[in-house]
Amino acid sequence: RAKAAGRNAVRLFLPPMQQEADTRLALERGLRTALEQERMPAQFALHFQPLVSRQGDLLGAEALLRWRHPQLGELSPSVFIPLAEETGLIHALGAWVIREACAHIRAWDRDGVAFGDRLAVNVSAWQLAQPQFAAQLEAEVRGAGVEPSRLTLELTESALLQDFDSALDTLRQLAAAGFRLALDDFGTGYSSLSYLQRLPLDVLKIDRAFVSELHPSASTPLAGFIIDVAHRLGVAAVAEGVETVAQRLALERLGCDGLQGYLICRPVDEAGFRQWLAEREQARSLPQAQRPSSD
Ligand code: C2E
Ligand code: MG
Ligand code: MG
Ligand code: MG
Repeated sequence: RAKAAGRNAVRLFLPPMQQEADTRLALERGLRTALEQERMPAQFALHFQPLVSRQGDLLGAEALLRWRHPQLGELSPSVFIPLAEETGLIHALGAWVIREACAHIRAWDRDGVAFGDRLAVNVSAWQLAQPQFAAQLEAEVRGAGVEPSRLTLELTESALLQDFDSALDTLRQLAAAGFRLALDDFGTGYSSLSYLQRLPLDVLKIDRAFVSELHPSASTPLAGFIIDVAHRLGVAAVAEGVETVAQRLALERLGCDGLQGYLICRPVDEAGFRQWLAEREQARSLPQAQRPSSD
């Protein structure tokens, strides 16, 4: 409420600001403790959101980090990831995410769970900027018994633009190692088309903002422009945040290659993901007439 009254008004309220600083400090301490004390498995978890093709085939899933704080409950990564970045804890957290992602791939392979071709993980600018990031990641992933080609690394534009030449160098190494590369939240950042052309990308992910404005009568939606750019660059376009049938139909018509969003499935925990896959499998094995009608 104070913020709605304007920036200056916020300064008049010392107690809320003090509270904010206290919360921040408590969160930072919690994050550090959770990371240091190997209590991470209890507090952190990966959730999974499937990714399907325009035709409805399963392509894979994205791993999304969740932190269940002992006092505060489940916290959004948009709160604690920036905090982890500012405090340098992102390196330990990022390494945990990769280990956990590999462990899940191994377990699904072992159990014959067909989750699509690959799993996507989000990588922070700070991880990418680490010297030797590509070589270390390749060693870790191979050491965990997983082929790099089974991981898609999702990077944001801001992660690439801070030091473009060294980011480009790292991306080339990652691509050479076999990792797939996706540019996340595309369209919200500042990358110029000439930069884009030089990046060894496989996927452009259209930011949710462009998907939410899609409706049947939109004549020249920006999402369509982004899809065309992707195809001209020779990369796949994936839409994030698909929530309605109308949005899906518009994206299909625009030739979008991949779809992700609540309409298809919300991010779910590992058990929920296995259940979603199993139910999907079952629905597909039914004769056409017996299938529950979608949309
Ligand atoms: P992102 O990578 O762009 O992930 C997509 C976000 O959109 C996720 O939010 C997802 O839950 C949400 N989403 C998916 N479908 C829909 C939909 O249909 N409608 C709406 N309204 N939202 C949808 P989430 O899980 O809160 O993650 C937020 C961001 O936090 C991610 O954005 C990513 O940038 C970051 N993040 C998540 N996990 C990790 C991680 O392991 N490492 C790093 N570095 N960042 C992560
Ligand atoms: Mg992502
Ligand atoms: Mg995104
Ligand atoms: Mg996003």
